[in-house]
Amino acid sequence: MRIALFGGTFDPIHRGHLRLAAAAADTFALDRVLFAPVGHQPLKPIWPSASFVDRVAMVRLALAAARSEWSIVSSNSIVASTDESPDPRLAVSLLDQPRPGGSPNYTVDTLTALAQEYADADLFALVGADSFLDLRSWRSPDRLLALAEWIVVSRPDYPLTEARLASLVLSPNERARVHLLTSVHEDVSATGLRRRLASGDRCPGLLPGEVANYIQAHGLYAGLKP
Ligand code: ATP
Repeated sequence: MRIALFGGTFDPIHRGHLRLAAAAADTFALDRVLFAPVGHQPLKPIWPSASFVDRVAMVRLALAAARSEWSIVSSNSIVASTDESPDPRLAVSLLDQPRPGGSPNYTVDTLTALAQEYADADLFALVGADSFLDLRSWRSPDRLLALAEWIVVSRPDYPLTEARLASLVLSPNERARVHLLTSVHEDVSATGLRRRLASGDRCPGLLPGEVANYIQAHGLYAGLKP
């Protein structure tokens, strides 16, 4: 079994997350992509705006709405254009739930737990270029590269060039465990969406309607400065 951990704040989940997960699942023949909302991301200067419970709920809704009309289903599954079932490869995981006392969630601990839970699986970690290019600031980067193969997805403004990767000083073995996915070009960020949501925009095309409804019903992001 080939399993990928897809950690993130998901504050809120958006089209970029969904598309990159489906593209990674296609390209790397992943059986499962685990969307794991994080309790406290140690490298983000500000805490998530929405609670963990709300972020998990939005991920669940988005995955349940994950239909081919949203084009998150891969070319392999385009046949499913009349089938409204969700993409069975994409699932939510509570592995990165808040730690006691709100202490930070470190990916190295999460991957270690996943490796224990799925001892026979091939483990991957799915990450955007912006996050990966910062790998040396993460806890135990060498261990992270040993625990999983990394799928790094291109993101506007974060070119995935060998020169940029060289700044991470990867050994040849480590470099061989890093795979680039450059077919995804999603110019969307949760930061941008939070600003728009604060001013009442439902962000059509960038958020599943079910997620926009949830945000509205629970008054999320309404108090933020647009
Ligand atoms: P924020 O704007 O709040 O920082 P975000 O849009 O980057 O949020 P996160 O939940 O922090 O979303 O992202 C989870 C993971 O998905 C990270 O590895 C991030 O790099 C990646 N990611 C998010 N959006 C994109 C995108 N548009 N293209 C490529 N990778 C992305």
